[in-house]
Amino acid sequence: MRDDFGRKIDYMRISITDRCNLRCRYCMPDGVKCVPMADILTLEEYVRIAACGALLGIRKIKVTGGEPLVRLGCSKLVGMLKETPGIEKVTITTNGILLERYLGELVEAGIDGINISLDTLDPALYSALTGGGSLQSVLKALECALKVCERKAIPVKINAVSLDLEDVGAQLDCGYNGPGWQEMLWIARKYPVDVRFIEMMPVGFGKQYRSLNHEKLLHQLQAMYPDLEKDKEIHGNGPAVYYRIPGFGGSVGFISAIHGKFCAGCNRVRLTAQGYMKSCLCYEDGEDLRQILRGNGTVEEKDEMLFAAMERAIKGKPMAHCFEHPEMMTEYDNMVSIGG
Ligand code: SAM
Ligand code: SF4
Repeated sequence: MRDDFGRKIDYMRISITDRCNLRCRYCMPDGVKCVPMADILTLEEYVRIAACGALLGIRKIKVTGGEPLVRLGCSKLVGMLKETPGIEKVTITTNGILLERYLGELVEAGIDGINISLDTLDPALYSALTGGGSLQSVLKALECALKVCERKAIPVKINAVSLDLEDVGAQLDCGYNGPGWQEMLWIARKYPVDVRFIEMMPVGFGKQYRSLNHEKLLHQLQAMYPDLEKDKEIHGNGPAVYYRIPGFGGSVGFISAIHGKFCAGCNRVRLTAQGYMKSCLCYEDGEDLRQILRGNGTVEEKDEMLFAAMERAIKGKPMAHCFEHPEMMTEYDNMVSIGG
């Protein structure tokens, strides 16, 4: 369906847990509290919401978190979502730590795409930034995913938050002396994998980190690779702008929420692990779907209420975020609780 500004909303990001096996400094540093498991939706509740979303025109779902692979039954949920009438694509975003273990199950369940989040190729900085994560495990998972997914034509992408790695390295006291964001290009050069840089948004602990400006990044990339070309191929349904570099296996993408404000073309809504439907990361407004699912009423009555609430959330999607004026934001939660 279309929202009040005429945008077609066909994509829902569903967070299936607020737990994580990493502690990324900008998302879930040590000390962030998790909600009781009883407050988190069951797999069946997510599917019921997805089915209702499908009636409203949702076609693609991204399973996220927290770390979705720490939720027992994640692959089962992928399979259940894939079987939901109207849902055409189900993809996942993961930190990759458990990916090797669950890859077979995910592929079996019909996963349509895997995004791996990775911000640096420096093992010490990766560990410092993620609260002890092993870069080696993620790179191994990437290689495994590529082998399995290539056979099935399932796209694998890397998402890197655009951080000033030198700055962060100094802040975390881990002696980083690598080349900075450019190090991530190695992946797109070596593998048929798109590497997408994502501007840090001032959400939760992200406020404490400065994002690199993507306009500057693109100029630097053009200076490094003068034969860089805009990639016209469609790579997914998100707002990334892609470039091809001759000789590279994958493209380089920029998701520029701040410096390339793409709200006019935004096609997404979000569901938190507790079943709160949000239509913009920037504002707290939304609809409590869990209250409807677990409240009084017959199945038919609840389905009707669910439909009406989701319709309200979609129609009322704000025109644009206000990340450039963080004082106007009304969302104070952390990314890990909202679902990134
Ligand atoms: N744990 C999974 C992962 O890391 O991919 C899924 C959840 S995580 C919140 C989803 C994505 O959000 C990650 O790529 C992460 O780097 C990104 N992220 C977290 N906080 C952010 C922020 N303030 N601005 C931009 N991206 C952020
Ligand atoms: Fe966990 Fe992903 Fe947040 Fe890192 S970005 S703390 S991996 S949820």
